[in-house]
Amino acid sequence: MASTVIVGSGLAGYTVAREARKRNKADEIIVVTQDDGHFYSKPVLSEVYRLGIPVNELVSRTAEEMARQFKGRVLADTKVLAIDPAARTLALDRGSLGYDKLVLALGAEPAALPLDSESLGCLVTVNSLADYRRFRQLAEGKKTIAIIGAGLIGCEFANDLVRAGYAVTVIDIAPLPLPRLLPDANGQYTYAALEGLGVRWHLGTGVAALSRRGDSIAVALSDGTQLTVDLVLAATGLRPRTELARRAGLQVAHGIAVNRELRTSDRNIYALGDCAEIGGLWLPYIAPIAPAARAVAASLAGGPQSISYPCMPVTIKTPACPTVACPPAPRAEGRWHSIVADDGVQSLFQDSNGQLLGFALSGAYAERAAELAPALPALLH
Ligand SMILES: Cc1cc2nc3c(=O)[nH]c(=O)nc-3n(C[C@H](O)[C@H](O)[C@H](O)COP(=O)(O)OP(=O)(O)OC[C@H]3O[C@@H](n4cnc5c(N)ncnc54)[C@H](O)[C@@H]3O)c2cc1C
Repeated sequence: MASTVIVGSGLAGYTVAREARKRNKADEIIVVTQDDGHFYSKPVLSEVYRLGIPVNELVSRTAEEMARQFKGRVLADTKVLAIDPAARTLALDRGSLGYDKLVLALGAEPAALPLDSESLGCLVTVNSLADYRRFRQLAEGKKTIAIIGAGLIGCEFANDLVRAGYAVTVIDIAPLPLPRLLPDANGQYTYAALEGLGVRWHLGTGVAALSRRGDSIAVALSDGTQLTVDLVLAATGLRPRTELARRAGLQVAHGIAVNRELRTSDRNIYALGDCAEIGGLWLPYIAPIAPAARAVAASLAGGPQSISYPCMPVTIKTPACPTVACPPAPRAEGRWHSIVADDGVQSLFQDSNGQLLGFALSGAYAERAAELAPALPALLH
């Protein structure tokens, strides 16, 4: 009996396990994960207050239920320390495990801020359910929260926490929120909408240092501003977990490099989800995971499929200003054309022939995403 080992119990790992089982009833499928293996929806973490879900109800299936679902095994609380591709073996923090095929679904981790250790010790990050539980414990009874980072996760948390009654301040070196996803006109709309809800912004300035002052945290900004808050949430972006792959000699660019069949530079090892990069694209989002998992499963079953991605708009879960964005490719030539109205902003990125290459839709215009998306070029043909 051949054995497929999947490292990671996030959406990517478990979707591969399910898809692989659909195609192969006989082989052993083992998911190895350093967390508890329980399944939850990660995007929900930045809107738990709005959805009114008690923290102890965020798990939708236990590790045991997941294992029964894909008729395999979950090795929870088990960290993979190293991969030996020649011997097809994983070194674990408790023993070792052989594989015939290996799937890396390792996710990403918060990017470290260039701060001293005292400052870093004042930060919390949320990139898993365990992180979120810790954050909620720390936030209990507190009033003021600073969020470092005005990207997708920072803005979503700002919206959710301010609605939950916290005094929220968002700090970012960029001059407007969501700089990687939105042109200025939409960024200004988000700024105003969240400010209207009570969010305070310190943009265009970084964090120089943080220090504990009793139960509070003093935040010194590079522009000289001093803030005192109860809690500081760092939402300064993620970087793919590539270290295991790098040490195993696999090709790594920004993420673990895979081809259109999701295969790494080792023919027995695949990678997908937040840890992987395909054709130079790193897409740390939900939408690419299902097609990638189907392609991995097809390849594992001996009938490789080359993946293609349509454009995949990103919905920003800020109910104060519904926003859907599909930024143009990094080197796309063209310019933004924005319509600014009282109830929203529509920005279309078009080339000199009027071809639509990207969009950002805020407020009432967000509803146009489904209509506009089919006109956009595919991400991967
Ligand atoms: C707050 C928040 C909100 C988000 N909102 C959205 C949204 O609205 N829309 C959207 O498209 N995307 C959103 N995202 C991103 C989306 O959630 C991720 O792209 C997706 O969940 C990644 O899944 P994954 O399986 O690749 O990684 P993960 O879910 O991170 O899973 C990685 C797994 O690998 C395991 N692992 C790592 N290293 C090891 C090791 N050495 N040994 C054993 N196990 C290991 C971990 O324990 C974990 O089980 C959001 C992310 C966050 C944090």
